[in-house]
Amino acid sequence: MAITTDQLHKLLQTHFGFADFRPGQLPTLTAVLNGEPTLAVLPTGAGKSLLYQLPRYVIQAPIVIVSPLISLMQDQVNRIREHGHGRAVMLNSTLTYQEQQLVLQHLREYQFIFISPETLVKPKILTALKRQGIGLVVIDEAHCISQWGPNFRPEYLLLKDVLQQLNPPRLLMLTATAPPKVRTDILARLGLVETQVTQIVESVNRPNIFFAVEKVADEATKQQRLLALVKELGGQGIIYFSSRQLANEMATALQAATELQVSSYHAGLDALERYRIQQHFMRDQLDVICATSAFGMGIDKDNIRYVIHYHLPKSLDDYVQEVGRAGRNGQPSVAILLNAPGDELLPQSLNQIEIPPVPILEQVQARQLPASALGEQREILQFYLTHGIAPSELAAFLAPHQAELAQQLQWMQSYLQVQGCRRQLIWRYFGETGASQARCCDGCQPAWTPATLDLPAWEVPNR
Ligand code: ADP
Ligand code: MG
Repeated sequence: MAITTDQLHKLLQTHFGFADFRPGQLPTLTAVLNGEPTLAVLPTGAGKSLLYQLPRYVIQAPIVIVSPLISLMQDQVNRIREHGHGRAVMLNSTLTYQEQQLVLQHLREYQFIFISPETLVKPKILTALKRQGIGLVVIDEAHCISQWGPNFRPEYLLLKDVLQQLNPPRLLMLTATAPPKVRTDILARLGLVETQVTQIVESVNRPNIFFAVEKVADEATKQQRLLALVKELGGQGIIYFSSRQLANEMATALQAATELQVSSYHAGLDALERYRIQQHFMRDQLDVICATSAFGMGIDKDNIRYVIHYHLPKSLDDYVQEVGRAGRNGQPSVAILLNAPGDELLPQSLNQIEIPPVPILEQVQARQLPASALGEQREILQFYLTHGIAPSELAAFLAPHQAELAQQLQWMQSYLQVQGCRRQLIWRYFGETGASQARCCDGCQPAWTPATLDLPAWEVPNR
């Protein structure tokens, strides 16, 4: 029997203590619980986790959540335990063989199983899950299947096969940022037919974030400006860099020049250290994180008042995803992109995927050459080769991606150059329309300064 709106409201109030659903939550839950494969595109902070937490009170069998990052899984498991929504567990590379066996033997005792795609694809795990019977499969951060660069996870491409084998009775794909083209891509790569999938799409707009670009003359001025901005803005913030080294250097410089607690965060730090930094930031023991794009996916910290980009992101998807971490509490917050002449050269060079000639790919696949012959993109290329993709097919698959990346960067440049409202350009990219708003962007309010941003009051805490 179909679940009613009243019943869903009751579950929300009883188990979560929220008065009402946020936009997009109710139609998504209704579709999922009706057994419709569902893609929900809801902005950062919209409350996507609730979309798999609440079904636990309706569905008897375990819920499997595919997640791209161990820190993200850990976070979600903690949140579920804290709120007492049920028993949650992780299945990933951090577990020993014995631990995995133990979990597999007791599958039915868990309501939530967080799993990485590469663990899910293992025959033993898949068989155990199939035998147990799964109530719902959730693919969190579903855009990871579609993009290149830091967010792209080749492991996500394994999910098509997994879905065919598991054939779950309910399927939910979640993402915060996916323009129409990416939505189509997500479904195609998961082997789903677009007309058979229910899509719930809410606006990417985050009305409380003010958007600004600051042009500076050169690198030295940029660093000075960053320092001044961090002092003026105060409070919790994230600064994104494309370079680990610069993230480290600027963290040191900011820590020395302000009363703030600053740390850097990037994939060069080991997992434990990264987790520790994230936890400190979550608990306000750190004010500012100088990060690469490795930081932030899925974190639920509500009082981040600014996100500054020191380097040019490679796409508007990345940019909107990253600035979306600001102002989750609904308070005024700000997204500033610093821009010096020549900034587009860095993402351009990062976009140059060096695809080795087909004979080289063939020899690596045949193990006649070491993987190092694949060059910079070794990890991604090797992934495909070891999963049996023909080298000629691989080369043909990668070539169109180059054009796509160039186009994405072009949009980013349009964002820099826009005359008038920046928010409208973002809307256009995501296939939406909307009017500029009272508190909008530097295009609409050219006289803005950090002081005119209405940021909530903040004092340096006594630590
Ligand atoms: P997302 O994954 O969409 O970025 P999260 O699932 O992390 O967002 O949720 C962000 C915050 O919103 C969480 O603290 C969550 O408890 C809260 N939240 C979710 N749904 C509601 C609701 N209906 N009413 C109020 N708060 C909610
Ligand atoms: Mg999330």
